[in-house]
Amino acid sequence: MKALVKAKAEVGIWMEEIPVPEVGHNDILIKVGKTAICGTDIHIYNWDAWAAKTIPVPMVVGHEFVGRIVEVGSEVRGLKVGDRVSAEGHITCGHCRNCKAGKRHLCRNAIGVGVNRPGCFAEYVCVPAVNAFKVPDTISGDVAAMLDPLGNATHTALSFDLVGEDVLITGAGPIGIMAAGIARFCGARHVVITDVNDYRLDLARKMGVSRAVNVGSESLASVMADLHMAEGFDVGLEMSGNPHAFREMLAQMNHGGHIALLGIMPDDTAIDWGQVVFKGLKLKGIYGREMFETWYKMTAMLQSGLDMSPVITHNFAAEDFQKGFDVMRTGKSGKVILDWNA
Ligand code: NAD
Ligand code: ZN
Repeated sequence: MKALVKAKAEVGIWMEEIPVPEVGHNDILIKVGKTAICGTDIHIYNWDAWAAKTIPVPMVVGHEFVGRIVEVGSEVRGLKVGDRVSAEGHITCGHCRNCKAGKRHLCRNAIGVGVNRPGCFAEYVCVPAVNAFKVPDTISGDVAAMLDPLGNATHTALSFDLVGEDVLITGAGPIGIMAAGIARFCGARHVVITDVNDYRLDLARKMGVSRAVNVGSESLASVMADLHMAEGFDVGLEMSGNPHAFREMLAQMNHGGHIALLGIMPDDTAIDWGQVVFKGLKLKGIYGREMFETWYKMTAMLQSGLDMSPVITHNFAAEDFQKGFDVMRTGKSGKVILDWNA
């Protein structure tokens, strides 16, 4: 089969011919339809320090996809050939305390599809059947290909009550833009999103945000004054991984506010702890998606009118993968989809 392989420990990714994966008795084999490129794939492409210490080479990468089941292992129940599925990319151990308690998203031994084991940028991908999620027919292929990051956005945004609340999202990357759409859909009052990238802020505006703020040229405090927000934000969703953005969020939160942290900040990030302590803020770290509550919630929201189409900016045939990686690396993109049937 054709696959996008991280073949060498250097910048780039290569289309190669490799064997179709073997299907274990608890696995399913999926013929991949569409995939989406994640920021993680760009780290792998660029071969940064994280990628160099994490990714075994050679290996097929990619973890955002939708496809159809073509083979099921002998022990698999509840799935059949022909089912249209995506899959949870965190493969959990099944024997730790949290797995045993049904809190698989808190598994301490999780490994990642396309990070620690072969991924989905290929004609076929094999995953444990318990990781599959059947995708309703009414959800388009493009959106179904990006349920993984939409799940990150959903898990983060639904961590706290948003109804009637003023929500600050720092970082208008694909996940921040998705979270903005969810906050709007769920009935937040003001949804304010920040970035330093005008292309992405324009995409966020299509989600019906109250304000999309370029913090390089406009102050958040002045935007809050315009919106008559006297007391500060009730909910913060940190989706930039940028320490300046996080510090500004802490400063602009109301007392008793809630913050969910998805963005991955540098190890040595310092903050004003007084903001957390004296305001009585609650902080929650987010990793991945709840299995499978997040998947149910996001597909239900999509079926009841949540529109994620503005975040999809580029579609390419899989053979044109280089164009997809190039546009992602410019920052002038939302989600980039690769079609494996084109
Ligand atoms: P992304 O890198 O595409 O988006 C981050 C955005 O933050 C960019 O648009 C960037 O311009 C913006 N930014 C930079 N400086 C800023 C500042 N000072 N203020 C506001 N915005 C600023 O990333 P993404 O794919 O949308 O993911 C969002 C974050 O979540 C990333 O940090 C990513 O590593 C992380 N992530 C975490 C998990 C998890 O499970 N915890 C999963 C996926 C992604
Ligand atoms: Zn576990």
